[in-house]
Parts: sequence; structure tokens; C-alpha cells
Amino acid sequence: MNVQEIMNSLEAKHPGEKEYLQAVHEVLESVKDLYNENPQYQAAKIIERVVEPDRILTFKVSWLDDKGEVQVNLGYRIQFNGAIGPYKGGLRFHPSVNLSILKFLGFEQIFKNALTTLPMGGGKGGSDFNPKGKSDAEIMRFCQAFMLELWQLIGPDTDVPAGDIGVGGREIGYLYGMYKKLAKEHTGVLTGKGSGWGGSLMRPEATGYGDVYFAQEMLATKGDSFKGKIVAISGFGNVAWGAAQKATELGAKVVAISGPDGYVHIPNGMTNEMIDYMLELRASNNDIVAPMAQEFQGVTFHAGKKPWELKVDIALPCATQNELNGPDAQKLVDNGCILVGEGANMPSTEEAIDIFLKNKILFSPGKASNAGGVATSGLEMSQNSARYNWSAEEVDAKLHRIMKDIHAACVKYGTQPDGYVNYVKGANIAGFVKVADAMLDLGVI
Ligand code: NDP
Repeated sequence: MNVQEIMNSLEAKHPGEKEYLQAVHEVLESVKDLYNENPQYQAAKIIERVVEPDRILTFKVSWLDDKGEVQVNLGYRIQFNGAIGPYKGGLRFHPSVNLSILKFLGFEQIFKNALTTLPMGGGKGGSDFNPKGKSDAEIMRFCQAFMLELWQLIGPDTDVPAGDIGVGGREIGYLYGMYKKLAKEHTGVLTGKGSGWGGSLMRPEATGYGDVYFAQEMLATKGDSFKGKIVAISGFGNVAWGAAQKATELGAKVVAISGPDGYVHIPNGMTNEMIDYMLELRASNNDIVAPMAQEFQGVTFHAGKKPWELKVDIALPCATQNELNGPDAQKLVDNGCILVGEGANMPSTEEAIDIFLKNKILFSPGKASNAGGVATSGLEMSQNSARYNWSAEEVDAKLHRIMKDIHAACVKYGTQPDGYVNYVKGANIAGFVKVADAMLDLGVI
């Protein structure tokens, strides 16, 4: 495989899809040596096939807002690769959503899902709908209109969407309600459901907890732990709050959380009272970050800034793609940061990753360290199929086990001759081998 040739051909076919091309480039760089040593992959054109989605559905979503005005959004579902199981991946509702972003997320999802050890293929979907500032009734009408188009493509054994940015428990509820009405069935077609109607306990906190469990494993390779560590986290959404809660529980001091408009510095560390306060604001669709400084003494808001300027031991980027760039990475390294554990998908730019790897700090890519969310979704699918519920302790124990296994797979494939673990390479190779071997077994389809 010649990475540059493949990238040139993809750029010609998909001009301007920068996030998608970035994600593909990262994986190809990691797997190229293994690929070139395995002629069976080349003969079956695994790379040429894995970089293109199986299919993409694009549709129009028309709905009425509270003033009775017609609104029109775009909806998408990308079924990227189903070699190892039903397509699985979240729905993102955010004005920035476009095909490039969903293709990058779907592509990443293939290898992430493979890493979980559960039988799930990769998919992603969403809409450019902006849930911010919308009433509950508007969110419901939008979700119903979205599902009216999507339902025929998905199913508990074909494609199982979940949440992502802008899609939490409330949206999953409205989407599931409409699916149930149309399909006339009560099955595990969506994950992230309410625990009273088929959802798995622990799913809301699973991605953040998993991110911290993975970081715990990385620290353990150095004989270290979270105890007493200073931690900065970005965002305060589905992923970030779980990470903040678990890191605090393990004895770390979480000194920053952020939003698109800036970050709050909490010199004495977050308390459970602060976490509860922010969860309340979040549930009521209010701004979360800036009000923290008014509510709690000693907390300061830094408008337009990122938490990566602080002197911290651990950084957990949990907000969005490309939120941590080269200069941010350099600042973290210069300030003595020892670990960066991605909770979001591709939050670090390629330049930032190069800096982390060059300086040999512990760095985990999202497809490994945020896989706890989809892994718990996989557990939810199992519970739905079996018509059974595990306790929170059982789910947490399985999640913890899966994160340890993913860490072990990264170490197996990513350890360099000098002993440094390149988790990016390890995750990409471990995920790729599983999918590529399944594609070989299934023939050219
Ligand atoms: P949410 O929408 O729940 O949370 C995102 C948070 O990040 C919000 O607080 C948002 O603020 C904030 N934010 C957005 N842009 C920025 C920015 N540029 N700088 C700082 N903060 C910002 O999304 P999720 O927590 O679900 O997802 C976060 C990331 O994790 C995404 O990359 C997603 O793909 C990934 N992920 C999510 C999983 C899940 O289980 N939900 C599973 C695996 C990965 P505001 O609301 O004000 O915009």
C-alpha cells in the first residue's frame, strides 16, 4: 500500500471532506507496514473497500416549530462497515454536521467497535438540526420527523443507532417512541434508552467512566494512579461529566471543565455539589460553564480560552473533534502533563498527536479510550435480546473488564522496541486486523 497514492485518490473522489480524510490518513499510517506484509489483504483490496461506506442515506427532515413555521433540516445515516456485526454508532444533532464529519465518525467507529471485542459493525448518522434553544415539543417533533425517514433502514439486527453530541436520553426516547409506533415492535433498535424501558444501567456515564478506566490502565504501566493528580477536562456533556465524576472518585482533582465559549478554573477541584449543579443546568438547556463562576466561590471563568493552558498532570479532551491543536499540545507537554486520554472522537489534531508521541507521554486515541460508551451499548443490545437486565455493578464490572482488554490489545500491537506504547498504532492495528480478517472470511461482497 502506498498511503499517499490512496489519499490522493480519496481526495480526488471526496474533495473537501477534511475530517474524513484526516481520520483515514491516521489509520493508514498506522497499518501500512502490517498491510504490506500481508498479501492476502492486498489481493482482497481490503483498504480500498474499508475506506468507503457500504451505503449512505441522506434525507430531508421537515417539521413545524412552535410558531407554526416550517423548518427543513438534513438527515443522514451512514452504514460504514458491517463485517463483524450490525452497524452501530451514534446520531449527532449539531449545526456543524455534514457528510465529512459523519464519515470520519463512522470510519472511526468501525475500528472502535472491533476493539470492544463485541460483534458490532461501524455506522454513524445525524442531522444539522440545532437542539440549542428549542422547546421540548420542538425537539419531539423533530425527532419524530427524523425517524419517519430513518426507521426503514435500521433494526435490532441490522443497524442500531445511539446518542452523540446533541442526542441524549430525551432524544433517544422520542426517536424510539416513533420507531416503535412505525415498526410495531419493542426491540433493541436504539441504545441509550431509559432504564425503565430497555436501557442499560450505567450507559449515561459509561463513556466517561471508560475513558478514566483506560487512563488508569495507562498510569498503572508506570506504577502510577489518579490519586492526587490534577486533571483538566473539556466540555461538560454526556462524556465529560462521567469522566469528571470517576476521576474525582479515584482521588484526582478536576480543576477545569469547558464549553465552546471558554473554561472555568476550579483551583480546589470539582465537588459532587458542583457536578450536580451543572447536571441540573444541562438538563434545563441552560449555559453550564460561565454560571459556575457566579455560583461557586474561588471559581473563575476564562472567556475564549481552553483548559489546556493550565498546568495539569492529566488532560481529558471530551468535547469535540480537533479541539486540541499543536500549540495546545506543546503547552500541555511544557507544563509537565503526563497523560492525555481522549474522551471525544478525534479531539486532537494530527500535529497535536505528533507532539504527544514525540515527547513519549501517555496518549490514548478516542477509538480506544472512549469505546466504553459503545461497549455498554453493545451490552444493552445483549440485554434487550435476552429480555434481561444486569445490575449497575454487573454492567460496571463488564465495562471495566472491556477497557482493560482494549488497553491490553493496544499494548500488544503498539509497544515499540524501546518499550514506549504507541496507543494510536496499537488501537488502529488491533481494530483493523479484526475487521480485515472478517472481510476476508466473508468474501468479496
Ligand atoms: P454533548 O453534546 O453531550 O457534550 C459536548 C460538550 O462539549 C458540551 O458541553 C458542549 O457545550 C461542549 N463543547 C462543544 N464544542 C466545544 C469546544 N469547541 N470546546 C469546548 N467545549 C465544547 O456530547 P457528548 O458528550 O455525547 O460527545 C462529546 C464527544 O464524545 C464527541 O466527540 C462524541 O462523538 C464523543 N463520544 C460520545 C459518546 C457518548 O456516549 N455520548 C461515545 C463516544 C464518543 P455546548 O453544549 O455549550 O455546545
